[in-house]
Amino acid sequence: MRPDNTFYLRARLCEGNVKFRKQDPALRIETAENGQHPYAIVVCCSDSRVIPEKIFSADLGELFVIRVAGNVLDDHQLGSIEYAAAHLHCPYILVLGHTGCGAVSAAIGGGGEGFIKYITDDILEAVGSERDPDTACRLNALHAAERLRREFSAHPEIESVCIETAVYDIKSGCVEWL
Ligand SMILES: [Zn+2]
Repeated sequence: MRPDNTFYLRARLCEGNVKFRKQDPALRIETAENGQHPYAIVVCCSDSRVIPEKIFSADLGELFVIRVAGNVLDDHQLGSIEYAAAHLHCPYILVLGHTGCGAVSAAIGGGGEGFIKYITDDILEAVGSERDPDTACRLNALHAAERLRREFSAHPEIESVCIETAVYDIKSGCVEWL
């Protein structure tokens, strides 16, 4: 990337932050001083079109979000979820897949290379021989939710947490619970 590009990209980020700081300072101060009490944990994809706070009209402190391409789970994600459920006492977990997921498409299209392979291998394990992208997306999200139930089945503070699965349609904006 050329240095002049960096300048404009950083300026764009800064401008966005200035705009953000003008909104709702009271809630920022309140959550900074009194801590966070998110009502739901959302596990979803890093895709720039899938922004849980926008999708669910949520504000600061309301959602504890774990975003990773393909909404796959590894130890770091599980640790984040465990923290939110057991220590912040968040009572609800939603695994949110989405239509048009590039990670799912890469997996069913033969898998990725480099570090991406870790993600596509996990997705392939979830979808098996399914090659329809929308069905594969559902299977992948259900698989992650199933893993959460398994990993935390004997956890005294998480076993009673509700774990659900949904799919977000990137075109209509609708969330369908599975
Ligand atoms: Zn995705």
